[in-house]
Amino acid sequence: MQQNRLNFHPILYRENTSAFLDDVVPHEVSHLLVWTLFGRVQPHGKEWQSMMIDVFGRKPDATHQFDIKGVTRTFEYHCNCDTYALSIRRHNNILRGAQYRCKKCSALLQMA
Ligand SMILES: [Zn+2]
Ligand SMILES: [Zn+2]
Repeated sequence: MQQNRLNFHPILYRENTSAFLDDVVPHEVSHLLVWTLFGRVQPHGKEWQSMMIDVFGRKPDATHQFDIKGVTRTFEYHCNCDTYALSIRRHNNILRGAQYRCKKCSALLQMA
């Protein structure tokens, strides 16, 4: 977020180009805009939702789901400074009580 940089999954992009351009890119760019304009607010709060609606004309769904053979599903987690795509293995560890921290801001990663 601090670098105004977004990383997208190349295989997901290749196999889901239209879903990517319609949903994932607006979703993530909205996070970046909210971070830039408002700083630390709710990850999918009213600022983020109004970005989705006003800037992209998208329905502000907080979740994106891809079920693709051969591509690992990821779960979106947030700390105080960034978003993380965690593997299903880590996600399940968290559901069982494991805790992961951001190396940069050392906040606990939490699901959006
Ligand atoms: Zn999000
Ligand atoms: Zn962080």
